[in-house]
Amino acid sequence: MNISILVFGKNNFITTLPDQIRYATAFSVEVIDNLNQVVSRIKIAPPDIMLVQASLDGSMELCNWLKEQTKLSWIYCILFEDRFQQLTDRNKGWYRELEMSAAALKQGADAYIWHLIDEEIDHNLAELTANHGLILAQLTVGLRKAQKYRDLIRTNDMLSAIALADSLTELNNRRALEWDLPRQIQRARTQKTSLSLIILDVDHFKKVNDTHGHLVGDRILQILCQRLRHNLRCQDTAFRYGGEEFVILLANTTDEEAILVARRLNRVVSDEPFALNNKLTINITISLGTASLQADDDEKGESLLNRADQCLLQAKNAGRNRVMHSNHLSHVSHLKVVSS
Ligand code: GH3
Ligand code: MG
Ligand code: MG
Repeated sequence: MNISILVFGKNNFITTLPDQIRYATAFSVEVIDNLNQVVSRIKIAPPDIMLVQASLDGSMELCNWLKEQTKLSWIYCILFEDRFQQLTDRNKGWYRELEMSAAALKQGADAYIWHLIDEEIDHNLAELTANHGLILAQLTVGLRKAQKYRDLIRTNDMLSAIALADSLTELNNRRALEWDLPRQIQRARTQKTSLSLIILDVDHFKKVNDTHGHLVGDRILQILCQRLRHNLRCQDTAFRYGGEEFVILLANTTDEEAILVARRLNRVVSDEPFALNNKLTINITISLGTASLQADDDEKGESLLNRADQCLLQAKNAGRNRVMHSNHLSHVSHLKVVSS
């Protein structure tokens, strides 16, 4: 695990830290002493652990800011108390020590440590050793938290991938489409770009299953998806919508371009029979419907999907193995067969 530690402190502050931090090889340590710089560095590449020198201008603002950022609040922030006034206040009594700790934690630090470096205070070796011991122990807590957080992110990524993938074809599944489509619609509208969609369905697939068995049917779906994938552009995303039905989202694509893509997919499926093994090849065709985003489409994409689905139905009714397209299905006369 490549742990990174970011120090918000003056250059000489790092020299006051235990050698295990100064000369660490197990993690990277970077020192910044300017609040704006440290904030932009955190935004670009969040560290696992922050060490903050309290006497530096902006130290408390930084702790505060960190904990207010929902996406950054997991960073373990250790505040090092080196303000002379606070250190001498501490000698006023143990309750003062508790009050200061409570205040620091309330303001956003995860740990608060008195940093025994002030030259005016004569620290004995035992005191320094104990202080360094506490710093290292807090660092261990931070490392443990970072490790746990990373494990959590990894598990989360894995679960998301499982939840959004179709195990037979390895395409994105319907849930992924339901997640992606509204986002693509929003992006298209904000960036004023076009967005199109193809829905396709294997023709007479039940007959393939009935004739050759379900396993052959499964294999055909896999080969079909490979062909689709190899013939899509990088801005296109394919989803298994259900059974032998697939949806392809075409970002930055006008309706005319979507028809060209659909025609190409129609051809790459019908032109070459599906070879299951040396003895068995099967002719497969698909029917396709396309639609493009209109101003009055809903933000979830239901009307867009429905329009493409109506086109698919028309393609089936018109004899299958073809692409149907319409700008607006309320005018059925707009429906046109663009390939057969
Ligand atoms: P159409 O041209 O009208 O679409 O006819 P069709 O036979 O393809 O449509 P129908 O809806 O009657 O049948 C779809 C078939 O697809 C039935 C179902 O068993 C099969 N199917 C759906 N998912 C899978 C799958 O994952 N594996 C296999 N082998 N078959 C599947
Ligand atoms: Mg079918
Ligand atoms: Mg179907």
